[in-house]
Amino acid sequence: MDMEQLRGQAAAAFHDLDVPERVTLEDLRELLEDDRGKSIVIREVKELARNQISGLWFSLPETDLILHAETSSPLHREQIILHEFAHMALNHERLMDEEEHLATLLPDLSPSLVSKCLARCQRHTEPEIVAESLADLFADALARTRRAGRVEPGNFRGVFG
Ligand SMILES: [Zn+2]
Repeated sequence: MDMEQLRGQAAAAFHDLDVPERVTLEDLRELLEDDRGKSIVIREVKELARNQISGLWFSLPETDLILHAETSSPLHREQIILHEFAHMALNHERLMDEEEHLATLLPDLSPSLVSKCLARCQRHTEPEIVAESLADLFADALARTRRAGRVEPGNFRGVFG
């Protein structure tokens, strides 16, 4: 496994999205919605944590659905969502098999679906490494924006407020 090459794939996907210098989680969501022509729905699901799953993404015909485990940490929630955003930006739905697509249409999380997702979401596979690397780039961009925000909104309000 060539880590350098995998990180390169993540950097290329980041570049393709034209992520602006200042970006929030909501901006990223809008970028991806425009890019993919679908709305993104994000829901917290308590049951996920019990199955040791932090997040899932389902590419449905009209919607990208992200389910994330209940967490008391906004930063953890953001990390989970960024990881699923990364899979979306990388068009990883091509990796899902037919059976899994059928399973996504079920209204509740069946045990078989959960086990399939666990198999897909193993951290050491190449797609997971690329997704994690892209999620890190997203997180860096958000952190930069937050740091910059501490200075500039104050100045902005000083001028216009
Ligand atoms: Zn993943």
